Amino acid sequence: MATRRVGPARLDHGAQFFTARSETFRQEVARWVEVGLVHEWCRGFGPDGDGHPRYAARAGMTTLTKYLADGVDVRCSSLVFAVRPGAQCWDVCLDDATSIPADALIVTCPLPQAFSVLVSSDVEIPQALRETEYDRTLSILVTLDRPGAIPAPGGLQNPDDVFGFIGDNVSKGVSEHPAITFHANAEWSETHWDDEREASTAALLAHARPWLGDAQVLEVSPKRWRFATPRTIWPTACWTHVDGAAPLVLAGDAFAGPRVEGAVLSGLAAAAALIALS
Ligand SMILES: Cc1cc2nc3c(=O)[nH]c(=O)nc-3n(C[C@H](O)[C@H](O)[C@H](O)COP(=O)(O)OP(=O)(O)OC[C@H]3O[C@@H](n4cnc5c(N)ncnc54)[C@H](O)[C@@H]3O)c2cc1C
Repeated sequence: MATRRVGPARLDHGAQFFTARSETFRQEVARWVEVGLVHEWCRGFGPDGDGHPRYAARAGMTTLTKYLADGVDVRCSSLVFAVRPGAQCWDVCLDDATSIPADALIVTCPLPQAFSVLVSSDVEIPQALRETEYDRTLSILVTLDRPGAIPAPGGLQNPDDVFGFIGDNVSKGVSEHPAITFHANAEWSETHWDDEREASTAALLAHARPWLGDAQVLEVSPKRWRFATPRTIWPTACWTHVDGAAPLVLAGDAFAGPRVEGAVLSGLAAAAALIALS
């Protein structure tokens, strides 16, 4: 869930919307709607929709994550490079050479990144989990001098053989200035992943042209998501390791579904697992 400013415009460049399929998540979303953070954007992207609400965060997805993090000690721009077993706790080693002792650990980064930080943790992780692969997403964020040509409600799902999603950030209520997010589909992204960045950006912009109408492009900003979508989902909503003194839980969208709702449900499952152990 990521939002970025490009010039005066604001664009969601990761998740574009979310659905609520489970009762648990529907209740969370209802609370966010009530406090005005989230609104129902539409009920599908075809001409008639499919009747299921698609939610967007007002002012961009990161307003929601900031709201959820309120009152929590969150350290952005801190890279964890290793997790090591301490006497009664985990030592979480940061890239600035400091470390944080932790009574319990929930690791939610994409699984290949989780394994690299856990390599010196002495935790045996199941082989099937270790082999989880991810689809990639190449994307561009485009700002315009006037509105583009995305039909109402401002989102297009799989409109052609290049793009998986196109989102108009003005229609969604995220930007006051014309700004469109283009996500290439998994196949196109895989094929062009190793192209020079300028070449893949130019190719995406050329494919985007029909959706820009007669607008002039002001800025184009590329974004690459190496671990965009887990290809397989672990059968339980998190994975818990309780061998030592301090527990470790692996969680995230690879455990409860490759979408915002899956990440939330997995986070709740991780919290429940730790509470059950305490
Ligand atoms: C391009 C794209 C479009 C998407 N569109 C949608 C959509 O429209 N609707 C929908 O429901 N879902 C969508 N998704 C999926 C949704 O965004 C994810 O399922 C969800 O964000 C996963 O949350 P997570 O907490 O599991 O992991 P992430 O959101 O990936 O969070 C993992 C975090 O770990 C951090 N991290 C990684 N390694 C380290 C380290 N060593 N030290 C410190 N921090 C680290 C990362 O920076 C990141 O912030 C999309 C995803 C992508 C990539």
